[in-house]
Amino acid sequence: MTTLSQLLIATTNPGKLAEFRDLLRDRVDEILSSGQVNAPEVEEDRPTLQGNALKKARTLFEFAGIPALADDTGLEVDALDGRPGVRSARYAGEDGDAEANMAKLLRELTGRPDRSAQFRTAVVYYDGQGGRLYEGVCRGTIMEAPRGSRGFGYDPLFLPDGESGTFAELASAVKNRISHRGRALQAFLSDLETW
Ligand code: IMP
Repeated sequence: MTTLSQLLIATTNPGKLAEFRDLLRDRVDEILSSGQVNAPEVEEDRPTLQGNALKKARTLFEFAGIPALADDTGLEVDALDGRPGVRSARYAGEDGDAEANMAKLLRELTGRPDRSAQFRTAVVYYDGQGGRLYEGVCRGTIMEAPRGSRGFGYDPLFLPDGESGTFAELASAVKNRISHRGRALQAFLSDLETW
């Protein structure tokens, strides 16, 4: 089993960091996060998830000299032509205001029968050799009202296909097994085996 001695995760979101730690724990000796190395915040101004993830991972590697892993995630709603997508964090204006983002999503879906959607995550690993890209998708349905108190972001509104609870109701181990981020990280871990 290939392992890494150090990996720097490009996030200051505690919920996201906990997911990275759970998924990578067995394969990385030391997991660090942006906050622990006092990394400057990176503006997510690229037009794609992949572009933002690459920008975050490269900036962090160049700042700290430690192999870096970054993700960027978007919620793509079919009836909204894939919105909010890459703009999911700032959907309602201020960056990362989950309550406002969920309220706006519910408003936009009022009266629309098709509530199918997917989360998509782009993950980029970056070290002195360059970058590697992985993706994960999780399909589901947007609820009529939030349910559950776990997780973060849009989790209380997202019912993954085949599950009886939203991401905010499921145990974290279940979310990590089926989620967009879990799948992208599983792809990263499979690739790691070939290095
Ligand atoms: P970012 O990847 O941290 O930029 O996230 C973009 C937006 O999607 C933010 O509003 C996050 O809260 C939200 N988000 C990211 N990952 C998840 C998730 O796993 N569940 C629910 N919302 C998420």
